[in-house]
Amino acid sequence: MWDESRTGPVDFHCHLDLYQNMEAEYARCEAERCLTLAVTTTPKAFARNAEMARTRRFAHAALGMHPQLVAQRAPELSLFEELVHSTRYVGEVGLDAGRRFYPSFERQKLVFERVMMLCAKLGDKVISIHSVRTARQVLDVIERTGAHRTCVPVLHWFNASGSEIRRALDLGCYFSVNEQMLLVPRGQNLLETVPIERILTETDAPFQSDKTPGDVLGAIRLIAKAYGAGLPDVKDRIRQNATELLIG
Ligand SMILES: [Zn+2]
Repeated sequence: MWDESRTGPVDFHCHLDLYQNMEAEYARCEAERCLTLAVTTTPKAFARNAEMARTRRFAHAALGMHPQLVAQRAPELSLFEELVHSTRYVGEVGLDAGRRFYPSFERQKLVFERVMMLCAKLGDKVISIHSVRTARQVLDVIERTGAHRTCVPVLHWFNASGSEIRRALDLGCYFSVNEQMLLVPRGQNLLETVPIERILTETDAPFQSDKTPGDVLGAIRLIAKAYGAGLPDVKDRIRQNATELLIG
């Protein structure tokens, strides 16, 4: 039987709760049947996202502790530890060694290591991971904690060298890619290295892009070009990848 839930876009990393009317964004993603991983930036933000996602088929709320907010929000780690038992979806978590956030880098490492240890122990988590200027360190933490053995790490906007991409691939990571990152050589290199079975699309809206949640057609076009495949096939494949991770 034809199942309509199998078609529609995939936005595997966006911030619906950073829009003024988050409820409208949740409703729109449902109407467009956009399979969405709605990441959050603080543990306190999770409850209202989980509530919005609870009655919807296509949006899944993830529990996050954004590395750029660790300086102020590290005390919320205990709330994270409590809530992580209640969800399969974790993100946005990770490391950021950009100049602005470098002062909190040591604390970021402690928090991220703790988060990944917990995920590794509990198992069956899908984890959306931020890695600005920290590709190697992020992979080190994944490997050291063993999170890749019990969970699925999804590297969001992974800007890395060829050897780091291959290492991530060997660890079983998925990659959520957006149009902006695919327009530069490293993004192209990623598509040349990673099989399409490990690729997901994202917008990271409303950050650093003119995209609204679910607007992934530009990324799909670039993916189709890189793999020499047709648009419908690429859309189907990515929907299938996301469905396997989000619905099982
Ligand atoms: Zn993000």
